[in-house]
Amino acid sequence: MRNSLYIIGLSALLFSCASQKPVKKTSRSTHKTTATKPVPKPGPAKPSISSASGVEFYTQNIADATKNDNTISYGSIVTAKPAGYKVVKTYFPSIAQNFRQKYLILHYTALDEAKSVSVLTQQAVSAHYLVNDLGDNEIYQLVDENKRSYHAGISGWRNDRMLNDTSIGIEIVNIGYTVDAAGKRIFAPFKEAQIKKVAALVKDIAQRYMIPPTNILAHSDIAPTRKQDPGPNFPWKRLYDEYQIGMWYDEPARQMFLTETTPEDFTMKLTDTTFIFKVQMALQKFGYDLQPSGTWDDATQKTLQAFQYHFRPQVSDGILDIETWAILQALNQKYPAK
Ligand SMILES: [Zn+2]
Repeated sequence: MRNSLYIIGLSALLFSCASQKPVKKTSRSTHKTTATKPVPKPGPAKPSISSASGVEFYTQNIADATKNDNTISYGSIVTAKPAGYKVVKTYFPSIAQNFRQKYLILHYTALDEAKSVSVLTQQAVSAHYLVNDLGDNEIYQLVDENKRSYHAGISGWRNDRMLNDTSIGIEIVNIGYTVDAAGKRIFAPFKEAQIKKVAALVKDIAQRYMIPPTNILAHSDIAPTRKQDPGPNFPWKRLYDEYQIGMWYDEPARQMFLTETTPEDFTMKLTDTTFIFKVQMALQKFGYDLQPSGTWDDATQKTLQAFQYHFRPQVSDGILDIETWAILQALNQKYPAK
């Protein structure tokens, strides 16, 4: 409610500002001329637009990060072409706009190279980008960034749901996991060349759309009861350390939360309904779409496992241990929900 009042207030302010300025200009100009055509706003020079195959492109990124996350990233400019009329896009660009692309979701295909290409292009699933495992310098684009691709499915993070609407999906060719005799999942490694490609691609996309670290996520983060990808072998810590991509906890905070409880006290807490609620609320606060139940139910275990795949990959069994709990608290402290 507070937010919507703020938005209404801001809209009223913007509208009143917008309606005053042209009046002054118009009254001044009517002394000199009777022209009624709006005068193009003076302002900074706009980047040039080029055209290829009938599609127009801005040749550079004109987003102004100091004011808001508005305007258009470089890329195609889709404009109506109504028969007999001219659409003018230079007079009144509005500041009241933002990017649709709020999230970056990483996946593995669970298929080999050839099958990954055929499934993601010929069936009812897709992604914006596909990172192959051929060791070359190519990254395949399958879907325009301004369009939805079908990669997230039923999904949620913090207050957002159905993230196909607001995300860019990156698939990485990787065969996923096999299950050993003891029922343990054995995940396939990623190739070094793939990690470098993913890092460069994520960095480029996150910068252009100003996607915050809290919104660069695994498929398993946004659909923990259904998905495991890209799994515990995906090097989130390395991406954070070497490329400043995504979230990671600070070691002193992990240490501090680790020493808050003794292992004996922690084991006692695991059967305490109030404590289980507290853990579930912490997972929910961090971003996971989880309904607190007060029991270690299936959804909670799968959510804990998704959390471990991302932030504590050495042991990812879906069971809360003292280190997982310390890391979760450290992350909640570092990345509070707004
Ligand atoms: Zn996936």
